[in-house]
This record gives sequence, C-alpha cells and structure tokens, in this order.
Amino acid sequence: MPSEGVDRIEAIKPAMFHTTGIDGVYLRTELFEQVTTALNDLITAHREPGTETLRFPPVMSRKTLETTGYAQNFPHMLGGVCCVDGSHAQAGAGQEFDWAAHASTSDLVLTPAACYPVYPLAASRGAVPAAGLTFDVASDCFRREPSKRLDRLQTFRMREYVCIGTGAQVLAFRERWQARGGELAKQLGLSFRFESASDPFFGRMGQLLAQAQVEQGLKYELLVPVYSQDQPTACMSFNYHMDHFGVTWRLTDSAGAPAHTGCAAFGLDRLALALFATHGVKLAMWPQGVRAALGV
Ligand code: ATP
Ligand code: ZN
Ligand code: MG
Repeated sequence: MPSEGVDRIEAIKPAMFHTTGIDGVYLRTELFEQVTTALNDLITAHREPGTETLRFPPVMSRKTLETTGYAQNFPHMLGGVCCVDGSHAQAGAGQEFDWAAHASTSDLVLTPAACYPVYPLAASRGAVPAAGLTFDVASDCFRREPSKRLDRLQTFRMREYVCIGTGAQVLAFRERWQARGGELAKQLGLSFRFESASDPFFGRMGQLLAQAQVEQGLKYELLVPVYSQDQPTACMSFNYHMDHFGVTWRLTDSAGAPAHTGCAAFGLDRLALALFATHGVKLAMWPQGVRAALGV
C-alpha cells in the first residue's frame, strides 16, 4: 500500500470521523452523515416499482444466521451478543460487578449483511409469485475485521435490493442493477471498474468455495480507487446466490422448485468515503453534477 494513499485519507479523517480508540468503529460527523443520507436518497430514487421496503435492526436471530451457514463459512467475521442471566446479576457490597465473567452467548448475533433476514420472512409467506419478489432492505452490519483503513470498518451501513424468483429473473435483476450501479458511480463522479470477486470463506475448504464463486461469476464488485489504484475498494456488490437460500429456507418459486435469489448491495460508508477521497471534504468544491445528483 503506497503511504501516499494512507496519508491522504488520514488528512481528511477528522472531517468525517471522531475516533473511539477501537479500529473500525467511528463516530460520524454531521458532514459524513449528510452525505450518507443523500446517498440513501439517491439509491431510493432508483428503486424499481413493486419493491417492498423493510428496515432491519442491527441484531438478528442467532438461529437464523446459523441456519444460513454463516457460522461455518465466516466464523472469523461473526459477532454475537453476550448477556448476563438476570438471576446472576448481583454485585457484592462496594464491589463492581464483573459482568463479563457472568455473561454468555444469547439468542442474538450482530447482523453481518442486510439481506439475511429477508429470506425466512419471504419463505413464511408461501410460494413466490410468478413475477418474483423484490425487496429494499437496510441494516447496520457488523463484521469482525478491524483495520486502520477507513474503508474496512467493524460496523457499517449496508443498503440492498434483493430479488427472489427464478434463476432467469434473478440474473436479469442483477444485470439491471449492475448497469444502474455503474450509472450511479458515474453520476457521483467516481472512477470505477467491475471485477469478479469472492466472499472470504474460512479455511482450506473455503478457498475452494471462493474459487468456485469466481469461476461461476456469482459475485461482481464495483471497485473505486479510494486508497490506491492497485488496491481499490469494493463499494457495491452484485450477487447471485443460485438456490442456496431457496433450499435453506424451503423457499419455492411458483412452479414449486427452490427459488433463486440475488442482491445488489451498497456500502453507504464506503461510498461516502469514496466521495470524500475523490472530491475532498468541502461540499461547495464538489463538481456541480455530483452535488445536483445528491442534492447537497
Ligand atoms: P471486501 O471484499 O472489501 O471485504 P465484501 O465482499 O466483504 O467486501 P459484501 O459482503 O459484498 O462486501 O458487502 C456489500 C458491501 O458492504 C460492500 O460492497 C461494501 O461496500 C460494504 N462493506 C463490506 N464490508 C465492509 C466493511 N468492513 N466496512 C465497510 N463497508 C463494508
Ligand atoms: Zn445480500
Ligand atoms: Mg469482506
């Protein structure tokens, strides 16, 4: 990593974040929030008709995430919620209660991606209609990947459009959103390229899964040179899960076959960082077209 990129981003850091002493966890400034709010609105403006909007909390059912296979595939990223059993919650006189010593894993985990809760919800409603289903979802997400780099946070916000239907419907959806994602990046004045990518599956078996994912073209990322040209940052991803969630949740299409699913994911914090890294931290100096697109 050329230090020029690191120095350049460090110089604009105070305009975006206050530090907490923990890598990858930041307090966001008003300026940063103004831009992520505007990004959210711009993404909303491109929402397809017939899309159902849902907003998720930052925690989700542990069982749901385990059923999805996340704990097998990404154990190194997963964060759970530990709680103290109420009956043990007592401090000795004059002593501070050592809560951590009495805490244990609960039925909650931190949501690692915005779309996970939507598949069991859709499955609970019965077979997917012939036209397919589309959702607009968002969540604060957690991934245990602390880093000094501001494009890799432990807690960040993800906005997604999700499609559930036949393989052909999902692939068409993904193609539309990949094209729109490119248009959005252009409107935002960001330089970018698309690349076939994989998820960071854990372990040696995981390497095979990741390789298969690339070979089958299941994940494409929109990469923006935030820190450097040779290590660009994935700001959006366009994913085809085939029938993984359909089989997992017995989610069927109108013909009774396991439904296929896909999603277009926007990392709001990464997109905002990419904007500040590209155009600077003075909104008044941003290109007119970018300001107009965002309404800032
Ligand atoms: P990377 O390859 O950089 O780790 P990813 O493949 O893990 O990214 P996805 O799982 O596709 O990313 O998540 C969707 C979007 O969420 C990403 O395109 C990115 O914008 C955002 N995102 C993912 N991980 C982080 C993170 N640690 N910090 C900030 N944003 C993130
Ligand atoms: Zn998703
Ligand atoms: Mg990742």
